Amino acid sequence: MHDQPIWAEIDLEAIARNCRYVQSLIPSSSRFMAVVKGNAYGHGSVPVAQTALANGADCLGVARLEEALRLRRAGIQAPVLIFGLTPVSSLTTLLDYDLIPTMASAEMAEAFSDQADRLGVQLPVHLKIDTGMGRLGIGAVPLPGEASAYHPPALAQVQEVCRLPGLRFEGVYTHMAQADADDLTHAKGQIQCFTSLLQDLAAEGLEFPVRHMANSAGVLQLPSSHLDLVRPGLMLYGLSPRPHDPAVTDPLHPAMALKARIAQVKKVAPGFKISYGSTFTTDRESIIATIPVGYADGYFRMLSNAGHMLVHGKRTRIAGRVCMDQAMLDVSHIPDVQAGDEVVIFGSQGTGVLSVDEIAEQCATINYEIVAKLMDRVPRIYTSKRW
Ligand SMILES: *Cc1c(COP(=O)(O)O)cnc(C)c1O
Repeated sequence: MHDQPIWAEIDLEAIARNCRYVQSLIPSSSRFMAVVKGNAYGHGSVPVAQTALANGADCLGVARLEEALRLRRAGIQAPVLIFGLTPVSSLTTLLDYDLIPTMASAEMAEAFSDQADRLGVQLPVHLKIDTGMGRLGIGAVPLPGEASAYHPPALAQVQEVCRLPGLRFEGVYTHMAQADADDLTHAKGQIQCFTSLLQDLAAEGLEFPVRHMANSAGVLQLPSSHLDLVRPGLMLYGLSPRPHDPAVTDPLHPAMALKARIAQVKKVAPGFKISYGSTFTTDRESIIATIPVGYADGYFRMLSNAGHMLVHGKRTRIAGRVCMDQAMLDVSHIPDVQAGDEVVIFGSQGTGVLSVDEIAEQCATINYEIVAKLMDRVPRIYTSKRW
């Protein structure tokens, strides 16, 4: 047993089950890239990557070169695609570590091509097309009034980029903006845009070995987006892109719980003021517990006087402002609370459950942000077997 003041428990078996669930949803001909960017959405990229690779994932996706290097330095050899901007000065690092960057514009591809050509090497890359996310990629969104499913000049632009020396286009992909929506019109438009562009490129003799677009929501809601490879992130962690949709959410197994130990318990008189600004005053004799969690752990200050935690399986409310390293709970209604007792910040305790989704809703954000913001200083404790 550890004696940390605060820790995140990560259930790798839950991640393994979620990975096997992804596999059950996609055709056997589709490959599966586990998205482990952002330290695997806060869950720890190396243990999660190892678990995913042992449970059906073929390759890994990250946002930045540094994230990819961390996987390699841990001995992970699976293919790794970097989604975000990679500086051209990293070309030799990419080759040394066998990493695949994304070419997100003609300019970027030209810069990498020049450098690769100069060194006399072939750099494997994936090409990014913008079909409606408006973020990165060669623009293929049709303009208003254009009859084609894609912006016609994209065809020649892609052909031109693919003729550049020094680059080997192993894959092509796009990213979905609304695959989680109730109305899938935009998502279907993106699928149409991407597949018809690729079809016309193929008719001109340009084919990509791997075509991909599906994030978790695409995996869960849009089989026609599965193509040659899927790229789920969120659902691997047991969180749902549609938390209010039980059909989507119920089969997933949340992998993270955040827990802490009560640092101090005190009985206080009516009129006792708590935390910065004294925004909470007790209206009766109360029992107040101090918890070692604050916004420097990635907990949200917005939960001041509003958020809940579980103590002895029961809900308690935060009293006063959340500080950088501590928050206080009113535990007056719970018998026999002691310093050292376990507090669940999210997760379950006895029959009590406090979900990441509930916290996200209270913070006016999405479940992704709650787990991804968990800081490094919170130790991750892996509770099931490690792969
Ligand atoms: C983050 C990301 C994903 C995974 O998205 P989820 O919604 O977490 O499944 C897939 N592809 C790209 C390019 C991403 O940036």
